[in-house]
Amino acid sequence: MMRESLEKRKKRASQAIRLLRKAIPEHKIALHFRNPLELLVATILSAQCTDKRVNMVTPALFRKYKTANDYAEADLKTFEQEIRSTGFYKAKAKSITNCAKELAKRFSGKVPNRMEDLATLPGVGRKTANVILGNAFGIPGIVVDTHMKRVSFRLGFTDKTDPEKIEFDLNEIIPQKDWVEFSHLMIWHGRLTCFARKPNCKTCSINKICPSREDI
Ligand code: SF4
Repeated sequence: MMRESLEKRKKRASQAIRLLRKAIPEHKIALHFRNPLELLVATILSAQCTDKRVNMVTPALFRKYKTANDYAEADLKTFEQEIRSTGFYKAKAKSITNCAKELAKRFSGKVPNRMEDLATLPGVGRKTANVILGNAFGIPGIVVDTHMKRVSFRLGFTDKTDPEKIEFDLNEIIPQKDWVEFSHLMIWHGRLTCFARKPNCKTCSINKICPSREDI
């Protein structure tokens, strides 16, 4: 598939954006947050968990913990229980409190707005960093999560499996101004239609430009 020319891939990518915008008019980030710190916490909690479940847990959490220091000084056992329903709560509690300690120590308690700083925080990889940059700071980045990985591969926008390499392949074919929106569109498309098992190719709004469509 990647033998297809760059120009053709760019063209299909722009068609995909246009069609998906129409098919999924409500495609904003589903996590609720009011500032970069809240988004950072919500994003860490969203690993292996639905955004809906995270949104049920965060209102009480955000009322109690307002600053990086609040999280840094949280009682770990109490905090674990407060986020328990999001799953993997021990690891997530550790990530969030350790992350907050680093924020307090190295960034005056503020969430940094540069990839090279964000990626040094415990529990924060390029994926989480791009979510924060794009949605809290308006700095473009493509988020490669499990949906983006699967859907962009099926669409022939990448032939890689490593998330960072996928991100760079996508950076090449999507205009920078569309990186954040493209991320939302593809993630929603993966959730709603292009399922891991049995993608719904029949009703898929981009089946005409997809080389992997199943018999329709
Ligand atoms: S046609 Fe099928 S495989 Fe291709 S994007 Fe649509 S749902 Fe996914």
